[in-house]
Amino acid sequence: MKIFIPAPLRQFAGTRSAVEVSAKTVGEALGMLVAEHPDLKRHLYAEDGKLRAFINVYLNDEDIRYLDKDATLVEEGDTLSIVPSIAGGTIALSQDEILRYSRHLVMPEVGLEGQGRLKSSRILCVGAGGLGSPLALYLAAAGVGTIGIVDFDVVDATNLQRQVLYSTADVGRKKLDSAVERLRGLNPFLEIRPFETRLSSENALDIVRQFDLVVDGTDNFATRYLVNDACVLCEKPNVYGSIFRFEGQLSVFALREGPCYRCLHPEPPPPGLVPSCAEGGVLGILPGLVGVMQATEALKLALGRGEPLVGRLLLIDALQMRFRELRLRKDPNCPVCGSHPTIRRLIDYEQFCGSRSEAATRIPEVSVEELKLELDAGRDLYLLDVREPQEYQICNLGGHLIPVGELPRRMHELDPSRDIVAHCRSGGRSARAVEFLRRSGFGKVRNLVGGIRAWAERIDRGMPRY
Ligand SMILES: [Zn+2]
Repeated sequence: MKIFIPAPLRQFAGTRSAVEVSAKTVGEALGMLVAEHPDLKRHLYAEDGKLRAFINVYLNDEDIRYLDKDATLVEEGDTLSIVPSIAGGTIALSQDEILRYSRHLVMPEVGLEGQGRLKSSRILCVGAGGLGSPLALYLAAAGVGTIGIVDFDVVDATNLQRQVLYSTADVGRKKLDSAVERLRGLNPFLEIRPFETRLSSENALDIVRQFDLVVDGTDNFATRYLVNDACVLCEKPNVYGSIFRFEGQLSVFALREGPCYRCLHPEPPPPGLVPSCAEGGVLGILPGLVGVMQATEALKLALGRGEPLVGRLLLIDALQMRFRELRLRKDPNCPVCGSHPTIRRLIDYEQFCGSRSEAATRIPEVSVEELKLELDAGRDLYLLDVREPQEYQICNLGGHLIPVGELPRRMHELDPSRDIVAHCRSGGRSARAVEFLRRSGFGKVRNLVGGIRAWAERIDRGMPRY
């Protein structure tokens, strides 16, 4: 017969989820189980040799307390399930865990029961970047039993200013590998489930369903809408956080009684209007501040304690150190969480957010190698730099500086008859500038692919990269 081991107890059974034994009674079967895995014994049995009160044992689908208890006869092909109570009782903690979590255990709001809840809870972190770093570290330290992480990125030197999961030696490694290593080192009592993939409409529901709640640490609109819709469809709370420069936002979405991200923002901004952190920058501490607040909300939800940030949007201004709270209402006409939803399955989020802009692929481009050849050949080119002045100070190609936001009112500074090459840091903002200029009648303007970063990597290696 087969004995199923519940997730919290698998660590005491060689991580196995089921054990096969041959026995005549339930008592004999459990005896064989603990003989094979002695560490399990103290979690299943009290000092007096009786099954612990919070451990229920089911033969097939019947509770053995309503059969003949230990003496219940079993047959070949029967299954025995061990079901530790989670809501009312406690999940057994080892002596090492009791010591580790002692500052929690003495708090009336947590205690053994709350720590057991944390241990049995499963939290998914989408993204292991600025927000995901503090979040995963604190959730792991606090004893959240199962932590999932979705990420496919590689650690870059520019990450280290804020992504505290990684060290200098990790540059070039997969974030997921470094993160798993660090979190396991921090707390070996956890199950870390890494998902090395980009969250997509194809995989999101399968991944989200494996967890009790989701913490959104993404940095783009397409993934934010995807996480929101997946959470609403799977009925999982979504702890939302976002950051830009000195400002952050925080809320808890997708609970049945509260609004979702779409109730707040039914549609994404047009692509390019809101700069990314790579373009606009972010104070390194800010994702720490917001990520730790997200972790706080996630822990509260897992514990079932306190008042979650549902129906409230917290606005954080770190420069003034002011926190404001806005009331958020559930939109009855919300396309995903309203009373007559039109979105019943995941859609194409790249298309929805316009991030797969066709116009961007049709604009004329020039590579850094081609530009170098043209400049060396003495071709008459006009270089337009659409970055910000502080970026120009880090490095420049001697181009004329007009930040992309000022382009509409400073267009007259440019001569439409000249051959113009526009560039920014990595090519995104300048692509929008080229699109705008061409629509405004500039016929001979091209975009420098990869921006000044590609120039520093491939043409002038002495130039600082950022
Ligand atoms: Zn909604």
